Amino acid sequence: MAKPADTRTAGRKPAKATRSAAETEKIRAALAARRDELRAEYDQTLSEITELQRDRLTDSAGDDQADTGTKTFEREQEISLANSIKERITQVERALERLDEGGYGWCERCGNPIPVERLAAFPSATLCVTCKQLEERR
Ligand SMILES: [Zn+2]
Repeated sequence: MAKPADTRTAGRKPAKATRSAAETEKIRAALAARRDELRAEYDQTLSEITELQRDRLTDSAGDDQADTGTKTFEREQEISLANSIKERITQVERALERLDEGGYGWCERCGNPIPVERLAAFPSATLCVTCKQLEERR
């Protein structure tokens, strides 16, 4: 049985903050869930693109140049959406790798652990909320 995690680290100044194994597991689970979510979203977007493209091809008979332009634009938008989802998947996968190496989830500025909830919401976060706010105020 693991002893309860010590959350009251204030006052002490650890050379390097530590994260409990349970917390690391929590982050891993959150990241993995996020990755699965994004993958589903990506698949969904891809099949939508395919479907829309099929529709566009079938009713393009009477298109003038403007219609064609709009359709091209729409298609580009969808593809860039798909690409940005893919990028987020890659980010989450990298985060999982770094988590295994112990280099993930620490604030780059103050070195404190970034809260699990924040990491789950923003897997690419490299700053804790406090430092992020300081950064934005500059
Ligand atoms: Zn910080």
